[in-house]
Amino acid sequence: MSSSFMPIEEVEIYCRFCNKITQAHLDRSIAENGRTVDRNSTFEYLCSKCLKTFCFSGQDLIEQSKDENKSEQSLHEYSPADHFLIGEKIYHKKWKDTGMVIGKEKGTQKSIIVNFEKTGLKKLIEDFG
Ligand SMILES: [Zn+2]
Repeated sequence: MSSSFMPIEEVEIYCRFCNKITQAHLDRSIAENGRTVDRNSTFEYLCSKCLKTFCFSGQDLIEQSKDENKSEQSLHEYSPADHFLIGEKIYHKKWKDTGMVIGKEKGTQKSIIVNFEKTGLKKLIEDFG
């Protein structure tokens, strides 16, 4: 279970300091001592506008595509029980809308922040049940 993992380098996120969607880029990877960087590592992203940093777990990030051709990303159909990744494109069947996961919220119920093409910014629950 120690396969290396490199998350997406440039990602759109919801910056709570800028209070809007901004571009963020991977700043550094924080691996525990003596371990390689994998899904359990923490990754720091830098907001391109306010230069504040955000930490995300590798569990919550989409992987960097190995080829340059990244238009082929498939849609993940939304279901409250599923786990979603920042940078992932999702499809909401009921709203017939596609969107990009741009943030996460950890509370009693975990949720994702999604920027939908037609519906706009929405918060949806994940990992439910
Ligand atoms: Zn910002």
